[in-house]
Amino acid sequence: MATELLFRNDAYLHSAEAQVTVVGERGIEFDRTIFYPLGGGQLGDTGTLVRSSGERIAVVDTRKGEMPDSVLHILAPAAGQPTPGETVTLEIDWPRRYALMRLHTALHVMSCVVVAPVTGGNIAPDKARLDFDIDMSLLDAAKIEQETNALIARRTATETVWITDAELDARPELVKTMSVQPPRGAGRVRLLSIPGIDLQPCGGTHVANIGEIGGIRVLRIRNEGRRNRRVEIALASFEG
Ligand SMILES: [Zn+2]
Repeated sequence: MATELLFRNDAYLHSAEAQVTVVGERGIEFDRTIFYPLGGGQLGDTGTLVRSSGERIAVVDTRKGEMPDSVLHILAPAAGQPTPGETVTLEIDWPRRYALMRLHTALHVMSCVVVAPVTGGNIAPDKARLDFDIDMSLLDAAKIEQETNALIARRTATETVWITDAELDARPELVKTMSVQPPRGAGRVRLLSIPGIDLQPCGGTHVANIGEIGGIRVLRIRNEGRRNRRVEIALASFEG
């Protein structure tokens, strides 16, 4: 069953009311959600489901369901189960999600500093990485850090832009990720725009202004294979 993806229009929602639609073996579905499901290299959200009785049930992970735009909320083992039709309050683990948003957006900025095809990526709350198809000698940690932070210091507001599949097909240069092609078939594709810096298809959650990233540190650069030169970063600080 399709779920209204509230995080697509507002990644800053900390809580929302939702109605249970499906209680399945793999997870709970709602008519709407603020929880981002694992995808595009970004981890699924965690948080709490609050029943009208006040009972709090931990949501330990969020995954995509079988239908497009269906989202499965995975509850802690042995937790109580809500029932279909029940209205609950969803509360996100906001510090964790905000770190994911900052790191995710930082990867967009870094992908404009390291100019090479992206072959992989991952975003966790404490660190994030991109893999590039590039010669190791071209990756300089201090230079990547300095140039990424110089762009972050511009404090540019980000924008979500939608284009049609046909428009994307006409501009293949927008797709930097070789491993993950943007989902097609829905007729339109969501892009993250950082005006003057980056424009690429992405369905993840981002900060409203890249200044919120604060700054990044390059943790390490490793050779993970001929086409996977891995640059791992962390936030320079955890202050908002
Ligand atoms: Zn993104």
